[in-house]
Amino acid sequence: MARKKIIAGNWKMNKTPSQAAELIKELIPVVKDSDADVVICTPAIDLSVATEMTKGTNIAVGAENMHWEESGAYTGEIAADMLLDLGVQYVIIGHSERREYFAETDETVNKKVRKALEKGITPIMCCGETLEQREAGVMAEHIRMQIKLDMAEINADDAKKVVIAYEPIWAIGTGKTATADQAEEVCALIRETIKELYDAPTAEAIRIQYGGSMNASNAAELLSKPNIDGGLIGGASLKAPDFSKITNWNK
Ligand code: PEP
Repeated sequence: MARKKIIAGNWKMNKTPSQAAELIKELIPVVKDSDADVVICTPAIDLSVATEMTKGTNIAVGAENMHWEESGAYTGEIAADMLLDLGVQYVIIGHSERREYFAETDETVNKKVRKALEKGITPIMCCGETLEQREAGVMAEHIRMQIKLDMAEINADDAKKVVIAYEPIWAIGTGKTATADQAEEVCALIRETIKELYDAPTAEAIRIQYGGSMNASNAAELLSKPNIDGGLIGGASLKAPDFSKITNWNK
C-alpha cells in the first residue's frame, strides 16, 4: 500500500502567539488541497492558538519537544498529557538542535519516543549525520546506530506509527540541500535498518521524511524519490506561499 506523504513545518523558536495566528490564517486556505498529511510544529506557547485555529481544517498540530515523565518536578518541561489536552497530535523528538544545544542523547530520545507512542502522539523522530561524519565515511554507521538506539524497546506495531526525519546536520538552515539522490540513499538505508530490526511490512509502512533546506524549488524532486515520504521543513515553513508550494508539490 502506498505511503501517504507527510509535510511538517518546524517553526523552531519563531512566531509569537499573535504572529502564529496570522500565519495560520494565511496557511489554512493555501494548504487545504494537499494530498499529504500537513502538520505545523510550533513553539509550546503557540500550541493553544494553533490547535484552536486549525480545528476542522486539514492542518494537524505538533510540538517541538516533550518530556518522557508523566508529570512532576521538571521545571520548564511539558508532559504528553498537556499536549493531548490541547489536541496536539505530533511531536518532534531529537531534533539535531536539541541534541546539540540541550544535551539530548539517544537514550532520552528513546524515552521520549516511547512515551509519545504510549500516549498516542505521533513522534517525528530525527536523525542525521554531521559533515565530519559524512566526510570520514561513517555516515551509514552513525545513522544505523541512531535508529537502533532511538527505536530500542519499541515493538513492530508501534514502530509503524513513528515518522522518521532524516536531517543531515550540514543541510539544516544552511541553504545546502542534500541532492535528491543523497537523500534517497540515506532514507533507503533507514528503511533497510528498520527491516533488519523488525520485518519487511514494518519497513514498508514506516514513513521517512527528508529535512534540510527543503524549499519550494527542490521539494518536488526530493518528494519524487521512492523512499522519501515527506519533508520536515524549517525556514520555508514560516512563509505561507513557500510552505504551500511544498504541500502542493505534485500540482
Ligand atoms: C529543520 O530544522 O528541521 C530544518 C530542516 O530546517 P531548514 O528547513 O531551515 O533547513
